[in-house]
Amino acid sequence: MSDTVKYVLSEADMPKVWYNIMADLPRPMPPVLHPGTGKPVGPADLAPLFPMEIIKQEVATEREIAIPEPVRDIYRQWRPSPLYRARRLERALDTPARIYYKYEGVSPAGSHKPNTAVPQAFYNKQEGVKRITTETGAGQWGSSLAFAGALFGIQVDVYMVKVSYNQKPYRRALMETYGARCVASPSEETQSGRAVLAQNPNSTGSLGIAISEAVEMAAQRDDTKYALGSVLNHVLMHQSIIGLETMKQLEQSGDDPDIIVGCTGGGSNFAGIAFPFLGQQLRGGRTRRIVAVEPAACPSLTRGKYAYDFGDTGHLTPLVKMHTLGSTFVPPGFHAGGLRYHGMAPQVSFLKELGLLEAVAYKQTEVFAAGVMFARAEGILPAPEANHAVKGAIEEALKAKAEGKAKVILFNLCGHGHFDMQAYIDYFGGKLKDLDYDEAELAMALAGLPSVAAE
Ligand SMILES: *Cc1c(COP(=O)(O)O)cnc(C)c1O
Repeated sequence: MSDTVKYVLSEADMPKVWYNIMADLPRPMPPVLHPGTGKPVGPADLAPLFPMEIIKQEVATEREIAIPEPVRDIYRQWRPSPLYRARRLERALDTPARIYYKYEGVSPAGSHKPNTAVPQAFYNKQEGVKRITTETGAGQWGSSLAFAGALFGIQVDVYMVKVSYNQKPYRRALMETYGARCVASPSEETQSGRAVLAQNPNSTGSLGIAISEAVEMAAQRDDTKYALGSVLNHVLMHQSIIGLETMKQLEQSGDDPDIIVGCTGGGSNFAGIAFPFLGQQLRGGRTRRIVAVEPAACPSLTRGKYAYDFGDTGHLTPLVKMHTLGSTFVPPGFHAGGLRYHGMAPQVSFLKELGLLEAVAYKQTEVFAAGVMFARAEGILPAPEANHAVKGAIEEALKAKAEGKAKVILFNLCGHGHFDMQAYIDYFGGKLKDLDYDEAELAMALAGLPSVAAE
């Protein structure tokens, strides 16, 4: 067998539907609650923020939802994405394990995020929306939505966490190239932003603050809606195309994964690769180990509490039950910006509570070491977030070696790191430190969780 083993699908084999895990859950999920009344939210509560088709998908229970043809047409620009067998990495590790990775860095924005940005922009366009507001941390989501907005002729306003706005000018330039407006958050444009600046004029911002700003702007204007790049059910469903394609590609290989690994920020790329496989299991198929890898400095699944919490710092969003570090928790400034969210997708959290998936946390220096090893073996330079998945897969491959077992490991390489070279420069310069979050701050953030009667 040659060393380069790549499984490609024809365009005709690209999935025509997304997979919705709601159809296969063993019991219903806890409801989403209105922050004012404490009662379950209805479509009318969400209508100021999202187009109706997205609201329908958020609560849908059908197993399959058709991908609209205009969305498939754009997907075809980079999908089906390749699946590789990591033979050179296997050799470097001297492991009997067979390692596969699905590569989502081939999209125009360089990550999995356009998989949901494109349909979200499409449904907004269909319902006459002129402007979409959103937040972005490191800039991957902002640039993905900016790309999708450009294709559909929708204005995109991105509230970008101030520290990233200043540190990542290239992501900002990419958003502006696509025609989006990029605002450093906290900003003077919103009440939420002004409130934070009044308390702390030097605030460097957080995802929670930026979400408050974007939500506030969308709620105020009839022609404007809001879009979220992770966490919500419809986002995870859009990402299922990753796992659905992988299943078809693995049929060509004749292998079936024993272990599936993904990194988790809000949970969407992890769910994208894992849920189609987990759905098979929930319908009576074989059991596989499914491993979520998160940063030790923002460990919502391994250290957070499973409780109702807000999605944002300004407490404008509904309450969802999830693994959370508390909506006021601000993680230390480590380099995987896409993994710095205080919460976790409710679906991922629920399945973790049911014991259907595992979670593990690693520190950033060991995570970068794994990414560098991967780049030297396979040639692709992963995003700092993706390095967590690489680390998780390598650990499993080393375990398989110690046990002398030829395990099949699949992981999602969710994006490339070409915009994150400063992180690699810092790593090679010995400047990357393993930052610990502040235990006292975590305890305080958790003590501040909203009390909810329904619990
Ligand atoms: C945004 C992002 C993440 C984190 O988001 P998830 O919803 O957990 O997937 C991870 N990797 C990359 C490359 C990202 O852009």
